Amino acid sequence: MRVPLVIGNWKMTTTHVEAKDLAQQIVERLGSLHGVEVVLAPPFTSLAAVAPVLRGRGIGLGAQDVHWEDRGAFTGAISHRMLEALECTYVLVGHSERRKHFGESDHLVNRKIQAALRGGLKPVLCVGEEEQERSGGQLRAVIRRQVSQGLEGIDSGAAERLTIAYEPVWAIGTGKSAKPEDAAEAHDVIRRQLERIFGPDRSRTVRILYGGSVTGENTAGLAARAEVDGVLVGGASLDAQSFAAIVHGGWETRPITG
Ligand code: PEP
Repeated sequence: MRVPLVIGNWKMTTTHVEAKDLAQQIVERLGSLHGVEVVLAPPFTSLAAVAPVLRGRGIGLGAQDVHWEDRGAFTGAISHRMLEALECTYVLVGHSERRKHFGESDHLVNRKIQAALRGGLKPVLCVGEEEQERSGGQLRAVIRRQVSQGLEGIDSGAAERLTIAYEPVWAIGTGKSAKPEDAAEAHDVIRRQLERIFGPDRSRTVRILYGGSVTGENTAGLAARAEVDGVLVGGASLDAQSFAAIVHGGWETRPITG
């Protein structure tokens, strides 16, 4: 069973005071949730402030990154143990902004996925092509490589804790969302790759989200595609009304696929 999942990625925007306030507004707007799972991913420094607001409200807490080691001399870094102690259940790994601005390679992303799974976290592996890779006909090769290298050495038993987010780089923060049929096509490539890695049964449990300029206006078109198991939302997750419009915009009423 794949329950639709909507994740809000707040990036480097909120102080802990602002994050607590935004989380409270979102909790109030969303009310009780049916047939959809929601996760908020505030900055590291806001996690402790947001956790008590979400507790008992059916909304999960996620982090935006994790270090590849469990502990050690890595000044400034945050390990999976620290996130787990703050009630995080999800963690984004390999977001294109991490790949671009922090030089994260597929190999490093893989080590982070391994660390998250070594602990008790559910990693969300982010993949997606640059505009010129798409126009150059490399879409399939790029996302296949990111999925297979990101998941290298991961046991098929871990598949049920894994989510993939397909986020074309040209769609992130640009207002230029992928068309639902284009998202569906890329999700299909990812699904086939997951089948090769984990086998048909285990791979079926992995949710594949779309991310890139998702709004209350375009969410229904994405929810209408069976290949899309939810969305990863950046900008629109920073406003409670916009985020609620996305969550309520088709995901709750969608038949749950197996
Ligand atoms: C993201 O950061 O993962 C994202 C999808 O951002 P936006 O929704 O702003 O495009």
